[in-house]
Amino acid sequence: MREYSALAILANALSGGGRWRRAWRDPAPKEAYDVVVVGGGGHGLATAYYLAREHGIRRIAVLEKGWLGGGNIGRNTTIVRSNYMMPGNTLFYERSMKLWEELSRELNFNVMFSQRGQYNLCHSPAQMDAARRRGNVMRAHGIDAELLPREEVRRRLPYLDWSDSARFPIHGALFQGRAGTARHDAVAWGYARAADRRGVDIVRNCEVTGLEIEGGRVTGVRTTRGPIRAGKVGLAVAGRTSVVAAMAGLRLPIETHLLQAFVTEPIKPLIDTVIAYGAAHFYVSQSDKGGLVLGGDLDGYNSYAQRGGLPMVEHTLRSALALMPSLSRLRILRHWAGAMDMTMDGSPFICRTPIRGLYLNGGWCYGGFKATPASGWCFAWTIAKDEPHPDNAAFTIERFAEARQIDEKGMGPTPNAH
Ligand code: FAD
Repeated sequence: MREYSALAILANALSGGGRWRRAWRDPAPKEAYDVVVVGGGGHGLATAYYLAREHGIRRIAVLEKGWLGGGNIGRNTTIVRSNYMMPGNTLFYERSMKLWEELSRELNFNVMFSQRGQYNLCHSPAQMDAARRRGNVMRAHGIDAELLPREEVRRRLPYLDWSDSARFPIHGALFQGRAGTARHDAVAWGYARAADRRGVDIVRNCEVTGLEIEGGRVTGVRTTRGPIRAGKVGLAVAGRTSVVAAMAGLRLPIETHLLQAFVTEPIKPLIDTVIAYGAAHFYVSQSDKGGLVLGGDLDGYNSYAQRGGLPMVEHTLRSALALMPSLSRLRILRHWAGAMDMTMDGSPFICRTPIRGLYLNGGWCYGGFKATPASGWCFAWTIAKDEPHPDNAAFTIERFAEARQIDEKGMGPTPNAH
């Protein structure tokens, strides 16, 4: 694209940024669109992009109540992996991985996808068996997985606690080499810019306060910036899914909890991979700035507050020290939380709803960042064709009534934690 050539960048720098083109426009909402996507997080923006890119739909709006990147897309610990084993999940997450591998090129935006690998540590023979089974399923689907014995993990990760007094001795690990991290807010910005270039109106500071439904069909949305008519409406409001779905009278099997994350002061390169502890809900990676990024478990109460409680801080840091005692010398720089839509089986929704023209994307639990590309791709397909793609066909609301749950609840950051 011409405006991002080296010469253009130099010209912008010399003119004090005066000729810099906005990454995306700031349009006022129009009266009507073919498709309105509610929620300008990673999933909403990706959906709008693929609706325009893959399905040629032209009149699309993304309505975001705050700013882009203010939700969970900008709050997560950026881990991307496809080590799922339940039918319904495995191929979906691998589709996402393949889209990640091309994403910077696809969006012409560096999302800093770094395939540094992930170790899921095992702390008992039973966990090794479970990891072997997961790895076999992955390999049977053409997904990379290696089961590593204790000595090999010790050789690669010497800084873990290998002493005889380790609280939970490490028996081995399941390793996915293609897993890694990406820069989370760049994903939002990249999709936003690419969607904007395809004519999508990204309308910020526009909260959806109601859904217009006539004769069992959605006809538009009510917003803080006035009513907007829409042929179809897609909900992608992670953290607020049950609240917004309730506007259409839908009661979902979702509970909202907080998930916290932490970053330490920056240090020299130490951890060149992602490590998930198997004895507690804890995982760690190192950001490109040098801070160690630590993730913990859910705060055990319902909340939309986007800030967590101290018991989980203590739990996470205890886990960190049990795994890596040397971390005790580091200081925590910041911690924060995001609101998680926890479904009862740990798997998401990408589906039609009982209301015609209203589509649902949500219930991402701890794990929606890695899903962003495939989620947008499959949700766009579902909205455009009014039917699911085979890769998201299992992610229905009805699965709970039909006893077809995809119970991979332990597939938070640490699949064998629960
Ligand atoms: P969001 O960015 O939250 O987007 C939803 C948007 O909807 C928000 O911007 C919100 O403002 C908007 N909205 C809500 N209500 C309305 C309304 N009424 N009108 C208009 N707009 C509205 N996943 C991983 O895969 N790997 C990880 O390592 C990982 N770590 C995590 C760590 C933490 C601490 C947290 C909090 C989450 C983590 N996740 C991780 C989960 C992941 O971040 C989420 O599942 C995913 O980002 C959710 O999708 P989203 O990006 O679309 O959400």
